[in-house]
This record gives sequence, structure tokens and C-alpha cells, in this order.
Amino acid sequence: MTDPVFPRIAIIGAGLIGSSIARAAREYGMAGEIVLYDANPDVRARAAEIGLGEVAPSLEAAAAQADCVILCVPVGALGNVAAGAVPAMKDGAILTDVGSVKSEAARALSAAADGRIHMIPGHPIAGTEQSGPDAGFPTLFQGAWHILTPVETGAAGEAEALAQLTAFWKGLGAKVESMDAARHDRVLAITSHLPHLIAFNIVATAFDMETVEQGEVVKYSAGGFRDFTRIAASDPVMWRDVFLNNREAVLECLGRFSEDLAALQRAIRWGDGDMLMREFTRARTIRKAIIDAGQDSGAVNFGRNVPKAEE
Ligand code: NAP
Repeated sequence: MTDPVFPRIAIIGAGLIGSSIARAAREYGMAGEIVLYDANPDVRARAAEIGLGEVAPSLEAAAAQADCVILCVPVGALGNVAAGAVPAMKDGAILTDVGSVKSEAARALSAAADGRIHMIPGHPIAGTEQSGPDAGFPTLFQGAWHILTPVETGAAGEAEALAQLTAFWKGLGAKVESMDAARHDRVLAITSHLPHLIAFNIVATAFDMETVEQGEVVKYSAGGFRDFTRIAASDPVMWRDVFLNNREAVLECLGRFSEDLAALQRAIRWGDGDMLMREFTRARTIRKAIIDAGQDSGAVNFGRNVPKAEE
């Protein structure tokens, strides 16, 4: 087994991502000691009960002796949590996060910077629709991208700090890349944020339609709708904060999406089968490229064993 990258890490927010980091760091030996803190007393109690690590009584106590503090809270809470953690942290320690919007993470962490601490926001492109300390698992980051968006703080040894954090995430199984925060937010707006918005919307529309009995929506949900319901089951607080904090990039994507949707609407209205064939064929090519890049399974129906469904 390799030596731990960090003698001690502090995980703030012991939900899906925080508890997965705790489990992976232990399983792959990437941290000597793991301390956790969560604002929710029930989550703290559960984290202790299932043995995620040492559970601290306060944010400051968790941050105090850590070599790396990882904020795993909703994006809207990053500012307050960073401001609370930094004064307690030791000189030269690293403050990072896992928030889904990196411009806001950079702003929140920069606002708390005091020149002693390294600020390296990050985002694991990995997750599920579940929340809480029981939802995490150690292999969540295996083969997934982890994007780092470092902030210059003037603290000595910035390159070494970045190398250490990169080694930590690689040790958890991730592929690590550094990127500008604004670019990250533009890319994620189309690959993650807009798909979630569409899923929230289609589920709401289906349940609001007067002509569709709710029982029938559920009964026939295997027809494509079910995959949207999985995405739409994601944590509302997390997603509220994503849309409030990546507004510009999401609105830009939504504008283009609406135009393309209107073009499909027109093709259906005018019976333009050629146009529909062109667009659907192109979409198939993109799906193939994603499978070829190892970003998803090529198994039929994602490998799910379900009764025959009309997709
Ligand atoms: P989660 O399962 O809901 O866990 C978040 C935990 O943070 C909850 O226990 C929450 O307590 C706690 N918390 C909230 N405010 C806090 C504060 N001020 N101080 C300390 N703890 C606080 O959420 P998650 O899915 O792990 O998401 C955490 C972060 O990861 C978010 O920023 C999200 O954008 C990012 N992320 C999520 C995914 C994903 O698929 N879920 C993927 C990549 C990145 P309560 O129970 O009281 O709310």
C-alpha cells in the first residue's frame, strides 16, 4: 500500500460526496486520519455510527489540524463554510471543495483567502441521484474526471499543493485535469445542468397534464420517461444552488436548446422526415462517441434487467 498523500483530511458535509471521499480515502489509503463535520446533527450521528471517521463537534475543530479541508456542502453554503474554516486552518494547508459550479466556488474561496492557505476548488464529475451519508460508496470516483480550478493566493508552495491534491484524487481513482473555472461552468452547463433542468421539467409536465392519470405515468414509465425521473430525483437544494450560481451559462445553453427544439417542432408540424432523420442520426453518433470514450456502458438499456420496454 502507498503512503497516504495527506496525514489528516477534514471533510465538511458528510453526504453522498463527502461520505464517498471518506470511504475511498480509507479504502485506498490516501489519508492517515479522516475527520468529518456536518451542520446537521443527525448526519453527524449517522457518520459516527457507520464509522466514516472521527466526527468533530464544530467546523473549526474539524478544520484545525487538517492538511486538506474538503468542502462537500451545497454551492450556496460554500462562502460561509470557507469563511468559518480558514481562520482555524494551519499554515500551508489546502482548502478545496467539490461544488458543481466553479466560478462561485472560486469567488467563495477567494473571499476567505488570507495568504496562508492554498485554495484549489475542484469538481468530481461523478455522482448519483441519492443524498446523505449512507448513499456514498468508495468506488464512486473510479475512472471519473476530477476537474481542478486553482486560485492564485500567494501562499508559498502553490505548485506542490496542486500536485498533492492531484495525487490525492488520482489515488481515489479519478482522472484529474486543471481548467479555468468559467470554462468548466460552460461545459457543465450543457453536459449536466441543462439535462437536469430538462428532466425536472419533463417530470413536472407529465404530472401536471390533466389528460394523463398519474397511475398511467408510473405504469408506463419504462418508455423513456423513467430515465428522466432518475435524474429528476436528485437533491433539490443542490440543484437550486447550481442554477442560481451558474445562471449565465445555463441561460445561454437554454436559449440554443429552445431554438433547436423549435426547429424539431417545425419539422414535426411540416412532416419534414429528412430533418428528423438527420438530427436523430447525429444524436446516435454522439452516443456512440460517449461509449467509445469509456464514459458509459454500451449494454442494452444501461445493462438493466427489466421487462421489455418500448423506448
Ligand atoms: P448531500 O448528500 O445533500 O450532502 C451535503 C451535506 O452537507 C448534507 O449532510 C448537508 O446537511 C450538509 N450541509 C449543508 N450545509 C452545510 C453547512 N453550512 N455546513 C456543514 N454541512 C452542511 O449532497 P451531495 O450530493 O454530497 O453534494 C455536496 C456537493 O457536491 C454539492 O456542492 C454538489 O454540487 C457537489 N456534487 C454533487 C454531485 C452529486 O451527484 N450529488 C456530484 C458532484 C458534485 P443537511 O442534511 O442538513 O442538508
